[in-house]
Amino acid sequence: GGDPYSDLSKGVLRCRTVEDVLTPLEDCFMLDASAVLDFGVLASIMQSGYTRIPVYEEERSNIVDMLYLKDLAFVDPEDCTPLSTITRFYNHPLHFVFNDTKLDAVLEEFKRGKSHLAIVQRVNNEGEGDPFYEVLGLVTLEDVIEEIIKSEILDE
Ligand code: ADP
Repeated sequence: GGDPYSDLSKGVLRCRTVEDVLTPLEDCFMLDASAVLDFGVLASIMQSGYTRIPVYEEERSNIVDMLYLKDLAFVDPEDCTPLSTITRFYNHPLHFVFNDTKLDAVLEEFKRGKSHLAIVQRVNNEGEGDPFYEVLGLVTLEDVIEEIIKSEILDE
């Protein structure tokens, strides 16, 4: 089929990595897995405006689940439902990508897969201990598209 991208966009997608466009972990709106879906928590979710919310255990770097806004359709704040009841029921898969993944590769992955959000991790081999996976943040289709649009505008 036709190729919708300019040479500039193609260059951007080939050269830039998810690390360049991610939303850093400290800026992510997330929920503690032990949270209870009372009125206050539901209100904070609505106020955040995000449609997908990572759920962590103990530490924010330990993402164990994903909550989708639509999962809350039948949740009554009066019931004070544990968040874990909802995440266990829907059990959305988590998608991880490495920090050095190029934007064209992650775009292809987003097109193929069902989810348009991935958790960005890197291998941390600084320091004395064994290397470990370190979560850096989130990347979504929107972040990739934003890069394409920026380059298309510069192209004019
Ligand atoms: P949404 O559908 O929730 O609006 P988008 O995929 O359109 O999310 O992404 C919009 C921006 O928000 C992107 O920069 C993305 O990295 C960021 N983002 C997505 N989810 C979250 C979240 N839970 N907390 C913080 N930022 C997020």
